[in-house]
Amino acid sequence: MQLLEDRIRRDGKVRGTDILKVDSFLNHQIDVELLNALGREWRRLFDGCGVNKILTIEASGIGLACIAAQYFNCPVVFAKKSQTKNIAGDVYTTKVESFTHGRVYDVIVSKDFLCSDDRVLIIDDFLANGAALEGLIRLIGQAGAVLVGAGIAVEKAFQPGGSRLRQQGIRVESLARIKSMDEKTGIVFC
Ligand code: 5GP
Repeated sequence: MQLLEDRIRRDGKVRGTDILKVDSFLNHQIDVELLNALGREWRRLFDGCGVNKILTIEASGIGLACIAAQYFNCPVVFAKKSQTKNIAGDVYTTKVESFTHGRVYDVIVSKDFLCSDDRVLIIDDFLANGAALEGLIRLIGQAGAVLVGAGIAVEKAFQPGGSRLRQQGIRVESLARIKSMDEKTGIVFC
């Protein structure tokens, strides 16, 4: 998506070889107009798929998911990173390794908010190694819900998550796909 690629080129900051900072428009300060455009595009891509729920993971996916949900007229559920060791039986739960923090979290979704009638679209800001997405997919599996696909803002295509998920037959629609990036030479899109 040209609009997002242009914005990443203009305001994204590459850190090292594998971290892209998008704090000025996506992750800290949020450009709501831009998010609107992303939401509209996911709606166009997943039109007719019967999405009745959007699932994301806290924290950075929530803003994107809420704006997108206005185009699908459906609720957003976000998986919570659980602090407590004793996880009650009324939640679906799995472990997710955080790419940016390098630690493993228990993530939970209440059984009240995801069920076998649901047709779920996952929305998230980044796709890197795929751990976050795979965790959300496991939660959808536990609920017996249908995974329609995943809408991702920025896929770092040089990391393995996207191709692994597509190989499993999962529909992944990334609005900007980065082939390579470097602090000095900048960002190359696919
Ligand atoms: P994965 O689980 O696919 O390895 O990483 C996805 C998660 O890590 C996303 O939810 C996102 O929050 C975070 N993440 C991964 N790569 C980046 C990055 O380059 N920049 C930022 N800001 N977050 C990232």
